Amino acid sequence: MKMAREILLGAAVGALAFAGTMGLDLFPILLLGLAGFFLWRLLPASSFGKRSVVPRSGTGPAITFEDIGGQETAKKEMQEALHFLLESHQADKLGIRPLKGILLTGPPGTGKTLLAKAAAHYTDSVFIGTSGSEFIEMYAGVGAQRVRELFARARREAREAQKNAVIFIDEMEVLGGQRGRHHSHLEYDQTLNQLLVEMDGMGSEGSPRILVIGATNRADLMDQALLRPGRFDRIVSLGLPSRQERWDILRLHTAQKPLAPDVDLEAIARETYGFSGAQLESLCNEAAIWALRRQMEVIPHEAFLDSVEKVMLGERQERRPSLEERRRIAIHEMGHAWVQEHLQPGSVARVTITARGQALGYVRSAPRDDAYLRSQRELEDAIAVLLAGSLAEDLFLGTRSTGATSDFKEAVRLAREMVKAGMSPLGVVDPEHLPKALIHRAVSEILAGMEGKVRAMLEEARESFSSLVERLLTDESLTGEEFRQWLAEAKGAPAPIS
Ligand code: ATP
Repeated sequence: MKMAREILLGAAVGALAFAGTMGLDLFPILLLGLAGFFLWRLLPASSFGKRSVVPRSGTGPAITFEDIGGQETAKKEMQEALHFLLESHQADKLGIRPLKGILLTGPPGTGKTLLAKAAAHYTDSVFIGTSGSEFIEMYAGVGAQRVRELFARARREAREAQKNAVIFIDEMEVLGGQRGRHHSHLEYDQTLNQLLVEMDGMGSEGSPRILVIGATNRADLMDQALLRPGRFDRIVSLGLPSRQERWDILRLHTAQKPLAPDVDLEAIARETYGFSGAQLESLCNEAAIWALRRQMEVIPHEAFLDSVEKVMLGERQERRPSLEERRRIAIHEMGHAWVQEHLQPGSVARVTITARGQALGYVRSAPRDDAYLRSQRELEDAIAVLLAGSLAEDLFLGTRSTGATSDFKEAVRLAREMVKAGMSPLGVVDPEHLPKALIHRAVSEILAGMEGKVRAMLEEARESFSSLVERLLTDESLTGEEFRQWLAEAKGAPAPIS
């Protein structure tokens, strides 16, 4: 849209320049153009339809709190906060300052938009949804004007429907980021100032009640002025769902789907550790597509299991690396799987060298119970598994490859976490005041220590490891059970890698 506008502008300037060289009098044309531009900028945007922020009004099926799986604390906090809208007369009588803004924080796809829609339904309010990025333009003043329009529209629609209004602003950090942080900060600051002005003016005599709900996954970037009492004075945080919550969400999203009798949603909830609500919704959808592709009438359990990997890593790729590369990938993945199985027996759920998304191969871990803490031992084991892929390449092929870059990144992150948690030889430290070089040394020491252990482990397994690599190259993918069976069979099998 923006690009089309710029092309049009360029063409107009070009045409004017051409007309000028042809000796035409440009003054009246320029005057007309200028007048048109001012009209375009100053008239209420709604009269120009598409140019304005077109907030999404509450169309589509109404969302209720029952449609949101898990997030019980967030729902409860939200419902409590909303009572002032439901019992506004009582609140007025008691002289309670009306709540104007609620900020929802949490990772993407955890149900922030759903919660805002449910809040609108719960309070019988008109829902007007928009996003912070829709306010930011390169021209100073446009954002502020759009904020004014948004609130004017909310008041108008609420009046017409004789209801309250909920304004939902997604990507709140774009609109409400700390002032003075941006290059074109004048525009950003004016927009944010206008939002503050509108919020301060809310609740005046005779106007409908408006509640602003902002959503962000970067609460740390928000301007402090927005978080002051009388503005966004309630912060409700949403987290990734626990196992029980994942089960709830899966039940909600499969309620209208025909499931085969073998589908075990509890097992799928266990398999999907770390998934957000949006990923779980996508998983249910992918499982249904899986069944459709095979012309099945009901969705089997296998469809869900297959879709877990698709949602996690992306679509299976058709590209087939050369035999040499596949051998390297097989050695790398077997390195991860071998070390993981030895450190945590029974923990490998799948080893494959079939490319999916960006991954050329991968090892998937068996589901584990949700954990909120990690011990030193667990962190060290995780680092060992991450390093094992590249070390196996080094050990069996004599060189490493770029395939381990993301493994190293994660290993370094974990090692840093260990330093911060006082698990390094530095002891308990204040990482903020620790020289970077010292942190770097501590991280390197942890990684080098783990490298030594993994290398010794793989050296010891050299022969059986090689035979497993050959089998993985042939079969391409194996389940955890197959892997463990192979492992038992491979002990002592002499099949050196060429
Ligand atoms: P973002 O930060 O990316 O804007 P969000 O937190 O606003 O994400 P939503 O837009 O509310 O996430 O969720 C996206 C979709 O994911 C929903 O339409 C719904 O299908 C599903 N979903 C997310 N969380 C839940 C949940 N707790 N219960 C049921 N469905 C959920």
